[in-house]
Amino acid sequence: MAAHLDQNATTAAAPEVVAAMLPWLSAPSANPSAGHAAGQAAADAVRAARGEVARLCRARHTSEVVFTSGGTESILTAIHAACVAQPTRRKLVTSTVEHSATRRALEVREAAGTHDVVRIGVDAEGRLDRAALFAALDRETACVTLLAANNETGVVFDLVGVGEACARVGAAFHVDAVQVPGKLPLDVRALACDLASISGHKFHGPRGTGALFVRDGFRFTPSIVGGPQEGERRAGTENLPGIVGLGVAARLARQKAEDPATRAALAAQRDRLERALVALLPGAHVHGAGAPRVPNTTNVGFDFGAAADAPDAATLLALLFEAGVEASAGSACNARKVAPSPVLLALGRTPRQAASALRFSLSHGTTEAELDRAISATEAALSALRSSP
Ligand code: PLP
Repeated sequence: MAAHLDQNATTAAAPEVVAAMLPWLSAPSANPSAGHAAGQAAADAVRAARGEVARLCRARHTSEVVFTSGGTESILTAIHAACVAQPTRRKLVTSTVEHSATRRALEVREAAGTHDVVRIGVDAEGRLDRAALFAALDRETACVTLLAANNETGVVFDLVGVGEACARVGAAFHVDAVQVPGKLPLDVRALACDLASISGHKFHGPRGTGALFVRDGFRFTPSIVGGPQEGERRAGTENLPGIVGLGVAARLARQKAEDPATRAALAAQRDRLERALVALLPGAHVHGAGAPRVPNTTNVGFDFGAAADAPDAATLLALLFEAGVEASAGSACNARKVAPSPVLLALGRTPRQAASALRFSLSHGTTEAELDRAISATEAALSALRSSP
C-alpha cells in the first residue's frame, strides 16, 4: 500500500461514509421531491445531512446550506451570485495565492471586460497584506473572495474584520474554506462572510459533493436553474447518496477539528515529518513555516543548486512515486517537468525555487509507518539524485 501523503488533493471516503451511502445507491424511488413514503425518507436524509453541514460550519440556520457538486461549483456559484447582487460594481478583490477555481473564475470576468480584478499580495511567509486589502475596499467593490487556508502551503489567512469591512461598503464576502474542514474549526459567523465553499472529498466525504454556505438574507441568484431543488438555489435532482455521505463526513470532520488534542496529534506528526525532511538536504526549508498553518500540511523547498540541469520537484516526485510515496509538487506537473507554483512565486520565490518544492499533506488516519516510509524514500531519492551524473 502506498503512503498517501497527498490528502489536500483528495481523501478516501471514511468507512462510516460509505456505509451510510450504500443503501441510498440502490433505494428505489428515493427522490426527495417525491410525495410518497420513499421520497419522504429521502427528504429526511437530506434534511439530516443539511443539519450536519450547517453544524460543521456553524451556520445559524440549516437553510443556509446549499448542496453542490464540490468546491469548484461552490466557488463559481458564489462569485456569480456576488456579481449579480451588485450589477453596477466592477471591482472584484482577491489574493495572489488563490486556488485555480477562483483564479480562473475571475480571469474569465476580467477577459470579458465586465470586471476589474484587484489581487492582494502576500509576504514571504504567505500572510495576506491586510492593509492593502482594507485599502482596496470601496463602493465599487462587488465581491471579496479569499482563501481560508492555502491548499499548497497550508497557510491560514487572518480574515478577522474582513467580513465587517465588506459589509460596510456593501460588497459580498466569499471564503474558499475547502481546506479547512477536519483540520480547523470552521465558523462562518465569526468570519462574518456571506458565502463560503466546502468540498466533500477533502474531508473523507464522497468525491463530487460539496456545499455552499449562503448567509440568510443574502440576495442570492442561482447559477444552475431548472427545478425547485435546494430552495430554488441549485436545480437538479439531488445526489442523494453523495449528500448523505457528505453529512456523515461533516460530522466526523467537525468532531476531529474541534478536539484540540486531535489537532495537536496531527500537527505533531506533520512537524516530525517536516523536521526529518528538512534535515535531509542542506538549504531545505519549509514554505510558510512562519505563518499560522493548518496542522496537516508541509511544503518543503529543496535546494538542488543553480546548475541548468539541476533536478527539480518533478524528478524527486517521480522517484517517490516509484517508492510508493504519494506527495505533490504543488502545481501542474508531469513525470519529468514541473511548472513553477504560482503560489510560491507569489511568496517571492524564484522560478527555480518555486519548481523545487514538495507538498506532503496528512490526514487523521496517517500512520507513523507512512511517515517513516516518506522520510526514507526521500532520503534515498535525494542520494540517487546526488550521485546521478
Ligand atoms: N479550493 C481549494 C483551496 C482547493 O484545494 C480545491 C481543490 O483542490 C478547490 C477549491 C476545488 O475543489 P473541488 O475539487 O471539490 O472542485
